[in-house]
Amino acid sequence: MAKKKYYDEPTCSFCGRGADEVQLLLPGLNGFICNECADRAHELVREYLQKPNNDDFKIKSIPKPEEIKEYLDQYVIGQDTAKKYLAVAVYNHYKRLTQKNDDVDIEKSNIIIVGPTGTGKTLLARTIARQLNVPFAIVDATVLTEAGYVGEDIESLLTRLLQACDYDVKQAQRGIVFIDEIDKIARKGDNPSITRDVSGEGVQQGLLKLLEGSVVNVPPQGGRKHPEQKMIPVDTKNILFICGGAFEGIEQKIAQRMNTQVVGFGVSNRLSLDDRNKLLRYVAPQDLRSFGLIPEIVGRLPILTNLEPLDREALRRILVEPKNAIVKQYEKLLAMDKVKLKINDDVLDFIVDKAIEYKLGARGLRSIFETIMIDAMYSVPSKGVKTFTLTKDYAKEQLEKSNLELLRNS
Ligand code: ADP
Repeated sequence: MAKKKYYDEPTCSFCGRGADEVQLLLPGLNGFICNECADRAHELVREYLQKPNNDDFKIKSIPKPEEIKEYLDQYVIGQDTAKKYLAVAVYNHYKRLTQKNDDVDIEKSNIIIVGPTGTGKTLLARTIARQLNVPFAIVDATVLTEAGYVGEDIESLLTRLLQACDYDVKQAQRGIVFIDEIDKIARKGDNPSITRDVSGEGVQQGLLKLLEGSVVNVPPQGGRKHPEQKMIPVDTKNILFICGGAFEGIEQKIAQRMNTQVVGFGVSNRLSLDDRNKLLRYVAPQDLRSFGLIPEIVGRLPILTNLEPLDREALRRILVEPKNAIVKQYEKLLAMDKVKLKINDDVLDFIVDKAIEYKLGARGLRSIFETIMIDAMYSVPSKGVKTFTLTKDYAKEQLEKSNLELLRNS
């Protein structure tokens, strides 16, 4: 008698039941699975994938500091010192999240970046968050107020983080929050007891709770307009806070501390721009305190680094070098219409000069370039040309035609 084939009397290869005992037998290459076993298998797979630790940070998946810096280099020009500090701090922060036994407690390392506006503070924080694929929120410290005052409650900065990840609390709890203009909530004046400045100091006190790590009840929609909304508890223990601020005038505090010759009346007049930039490199926690941050906040921002002002060369590189440089973006847009964008070298210098002249810094590069290109972007796609060459004369003409005053104030 011929050997019985497996499909003669089909049974489930997992539970052994026959076709008459189950609702459905699904055939595979060498056997069958019944509907019940398939259901159970599906459940097991789901449970496995949702296991609490399964999507935690694995040490291997955290980019090494050098890799973080390399990634930042693709998007942010210069600022090497800050990049290194950030790379190490971020690496350690996420390494900390993987630690299992707590014999040595690695402390949280929130970061503060001091540097002129428009030099890449937000860009650095945003780029790191993108590389790590963690939720990211930007909050302006100036809109935050103590509870009971007009403005946004401090907790609302976590609302933004929740919104950035579709209210996935677990994700939010290991996200990055960038608090901009932290210098604007500094206490005015040096003496805390005499010149207690309620708005600034109150906000600092409120922030402290978040920075040190605590469970905060967050209004899902932000604001205070919806008293009926159900609060979402968020633990800030593993959220990385990166603060940024221009701290205008902090050079004088640094100079005083370092006991340089410029101490005294009229310091600001005698410090050249170059001197000020050099001094900024020596910024230390006590300078932040003299500037008006409360000692507890300074203590909770242990990683302190500074950004350099962008010189002419850096601005020129920003136009063309970053992976998403404005020039590359326009090249791509036109290439989609099969038009090649050619830019004469002197055009880039011209744009940089204008950005400096209008005191717009790196932020202005984009608006100037867009202003110059608007007519071309309007007409070139329908002209059927193969190449569009941007000359300095054309750029000048376009800029003069535009409302320069408007640009100056933007
Ligand atoms: P801020 O220091 O005020 O936070 P931003 O990071 O928001 O400045 O910079 C404003 C814009 O200027 C950025 O979006 C980016 O286009 C450009 N930019 C500023 N600094 C740099 C830099 N170092 N490298 C590349 N682009 C920069």
